[in-house]
This record gives sequence, structure tokens and C-alpha cells, in this order.
Amino acid sequence: MSSQPESAAERRDAVRERHRETASEVLPEHTGLYVGGEFVDSAAGETFDTVDPTTGEVLASAARGREADVDRAVEAAWRAFDEEWSGYGAGRRQRALTAIADTIEAHTEELARLESLDNGKPVSEATIDVRGAAEQFRYFAGLVRGNDGETMAEGSRYGQVIKEPYGVVGQVVPWNFPLLMASWKLAPALAAGNCTVLKPAEQTPLSALRLAELLTENDLLPDGVVNVVTGYGEEAGAPLTGHPDVRKVAFTGSTAVGKEVMKAAAENVTDVTLELGGKSPVVVFPDVEVEKAVRLVSSAIFYNTGECCEAGSRLFVHDDVADEVLAGLQAAIDGMTLGDPLDEETDLGPKVSREQVDRTMEYLDLAREEGGQFLAGGDRPDDEALADGCYVEPTLVEGLDHDSRAVQEEIFGPVLSVFRWDDYDEMMTLVNDVDYGLAGGVVTNDATKAQRAARDIQAGYVWINSYHDLVPGLPFGGYKQSGIGRELSEETLAHYQQTKTINQSLR
Ligand code: NAD
Repeated sequence: MSSQPESAAERRDAVRERHRETASEVLPEHTGLYVGGEFVDSAAGETFDTVDPTTGEVLASAARGREADVDRAVEAAWRAFDEEWSGYGAGRRQRALTAIADTIEAHTEELARLESLDNGKPVSEATIDVRGAAEQFRYFAGLVRGNDGETMAEGSRYGQVIKEPYGVVGQVVPWNFPLLMASWKLAPALAAGNCTVLKPAEQTPLSALRLAELLTENDLLPDGVVNVVTGYGEEAGAPLTGHPDVRKVAFTGSTAVGKEVMKAAAENVTDVTLELGGKSPVVVFPDVEVEKAVRLVSSAIFYNTGECCEAGSRLFVHDDVADEVLAGLQAAIDGMTLGDPLDEETDLGPKVSREQVDRTMEYLDLAREEGGQFLAGGDRPDDEALADGCYVEPTLVEGLDHDSRAVQEEIFGPVLSVFRWDDYDEMMTLVNDVDYGLAGGVVTNDATKAQRAARDIQAGYVWINSYHDLVPGLPFGGYKQSGIGRELSEETLAHYQQTKTINQSLR
């Protein structure tokens, strides 16, 4: 006899119970602001709740940082820079980054479960995030050495070009990959010799706070090198990105907020890099193995419940294979398990918040009004057992005009718009007819066609016969309104440094 609870109500209760128990095991002990190596209350003593999107229950209350708290964190960061961190040579910074990587790795299971609770992502995917976070620190630990500048000896002149850190940088990250995005920011900033103030997204502050605890518990960095100010975008993010003593701003989030961040940074002529939204195409050629194409297209859009900046949310499938690929996608969707993200078998967890569900549902309504035909999904699941959670069905929609809002705007959910093609040039015109240019995918066994399409897609990152796998060393970032600057590479290290030229006369 099965010991599984039977009714929907029993299944909901079992999930709630499991989440409460997991929370008691993995929640950070401290949820204050992390400033100068200590956890402190916000100046106003205010907090905000972070909610478990699977159960709707409050997980924890975190400090609600505002301008005064940002000021305090920036001061603490400058103190750490002036008194200690600027004196750390490359070898010590390398050892510190490697120790952070080791520590994250040693806490993989705990951090993955915490991330899964706070964000709703399947724990299997959260585990990949945590490994990726450790890998960031390892990669940038490697880049610390050999970043020695240049010299030029010519005639009666001796020139040096050296790289110096900015000092204190401000970093703002989103909720879709909370720990991973924090690591993408922290690792290069520290490798380049900066101190930082990080603002996590208000929906998912917990993994950054746990990382801060791990830094302190294991004495991995001098106090104040990393500071974490939790809170809302306008209250904590805006004062950070517009702070006159912050010398570089790095932001990952929506294009709309990215524009505000750029304006705020402009006030102080602060250097800024932006990783923003996307509406990326996946192009399927007629020669493909259908099963493989289905697997790639499905993962391109449905990984992390569609909450990926690089999600392949527009499918361009050749007429010759369109029916088969779409049937394969329908079957793949039928086979997906929506459920408790803490369950290893779950393919799609809830979205991060009610607000994000509403946003996706508005786009689905719009797609319906704009004449879209739903080949799969299109609604919230009607399984009573999932009623507490922020679930949306994986959705395939065809028949939309490429100019329609549901195609042009980032939905940031599990929604794939389908277009059939037989003329390459017409197809490529549509592929590039969006404001975004973050990523793209090409699926074909024909190497020449693959190369041609990869060149023709106006985006910063194009996968051929693959999707989502981001490898440190291969720069990631957007064209057009998808951003400025590159992550994951030597170029990233350069974004966190300023160049000084010393020109010496020998006469
Ligand atoms: P968002 O822009 O609403 O928020 C991102 C962060 O900015 C949050 O921490 C938020 O508190 C903060 N913020 C909000 N208003 C601010 C302001 N006025 N000044 C400073 N900070 C402010 O985005 P989101 O909804 O959290 O994340 C989803 C978006 O992020 C999507 O558009 C997605 O494509 C994008 N994203 C991009 C990448 C990339 O690498 N290109 C990676 C992940 C997510």
C-alpha cells in the first residue's frame, strides 16, 4: 500500500509541512543588513517579508534598507578598502576567492534547498545554480593572476599602463537566479580588488544573507569588503545606484529599471554595466532530428519556469518539420511534472510571486485577444493540490502577429510563441525585429547554415545545438536594449577596473 497522501488537501498539507521543516533547517539565522561584517537592523528598524511561492507562507522577515542604510554600507565598504582590502595582493585575493568557492561547494545542498524555498525553482536546478556560483569564484580566482598591465619603453620615455580597482562598487541583482547572479557580480568585483555593496531582489533575499553568514562564520574576507543591503528597489536600489561615493554600478534586471539605473549613475558620471531582459529566438532548420530539437526548444523556454533572461521564448520552426516539432513539444509538456520544487522529480516549480503570476496571466489574456491559438497550457493548473502556489502551465501559442505585445515584450514565464518559416531572409527579419538582443539558438546539423544564422542573429550570445549552458570564459551579455557590458569573462574583470597610464620622462 502507498503511504502517499491521497486527496488534494492532504497533498497540500504535506507540502506545507515539508516546507516548514526545510525552512527550520536551512533559513539563515540572521536577516539583518550585513554591514561592516555584522548583521544590523535597518536605521528605521523596518522589515519586509519574503514569502515561499509554493505555500504562500512567510519564510522570514528581512531588514528593509533605505538611503541611510546604503550610506552606512558604502562607508563601511570604503573603510574596508582603505584600511585593508586595497593592500591585499593578487595572491591573497586569489586565496580568498578560492576559499569562498570551496565554502559554497561544501554547503551546496543547504543553499540549494534555501534557494528552492525562497524562489520556487526545482531543487535540481537550484543545485546547478549553487555549483555555478562556486565556479564563478573559482574562475575569477584564476583571472586574478596575470592581470599585470603593460609597459612601453621607447626613446627617452617609459610608460606603464596599470589596472586599478574602482574602490567601492554597487551591485543590484534580480530574483530569478538569486545566488548565482550575486556570484556573477561579487566574484569579478573582488577579483579586481574592489569592495562592494550588494542589493538582492526583495523577493529572494535569503541566499545572499546566508552567503554573508558563511563569509563571516568562516572568516573568508576582511569585514566590510562585502556588504549586503536588503530592501526594495526604489528604497535601497536607487540610493545605491545613484550614490556619489559608488564608483561603478553593475545591475542585472529588467530593461525598464536598467534605464533608471543608468540615469541615476549618470548623475555622478559613474561607470555602469547592465544585464537586462531578452526575447530570444530559437531557429529550427528542416534537417534536424526532431527529438533532439524538441528537447532543446523545450529546455530553452521552460528551464527555471521560463524565468531566464536568455529564455528562448520565440520559436522559428521550418515548415517541413513544424508539425512534428510542435507535436513533440505538446507531448513534452504533457509529460512535465508541476509540483513541489523540493521534490527531485519536479520539472516546473511555481513562479516567484503572485505578482509574477498576474503578469504572466495578463500576457496570456492579451495573447488570446490578439488571436493566439493555444497548442498547450494557457492558464493556471486546475490541480487543487497546487492551489497555494504561484503555478502557471507551460504554454505553446501560435498564430500571433509578430508585432503583438505578447511577442515583442518579455513575459518572463513559461510561454513560447511559435512561428513557421520557409524563407530564410523573411524569417531572419522577424528574428531580429525586437528591441532586445540578449541571446539566440540555432538547431541544425548543417554547419554552414548554423554559422550563417549565428552571424545573422543580432544578439550577444548564440548557441548552436545547445541552450542555457554558460561557460566561464565565454562572455555573456546583450546587444540592443539587452544591456551593456559582458559577464563571465576577462572583459568582466576589466569592467571592475580603471586604467591608469604613467608616462615618465627619462631625461
Ligand atoms: P527588476 O528590474 O524589477 O529588479 C531587479 C533588481 O532591481 C531588484 O533587486 C530590484 O529591487 C531592483 N530595483 C528595482 N527598481 C530599482 C531602481 N529604481 N533602482 C535600482 N534598483 C532597482 O527585475 P526583476 O523582475 O527582479 O528581474 C527580472 C528581469 O531581470 C528580467 O527582465 C530579466 O530578463 C532580467 N535578467 C537579466 C539577466 C541578464 O543577465 N541579462 C539575468 C537575470 C535577469
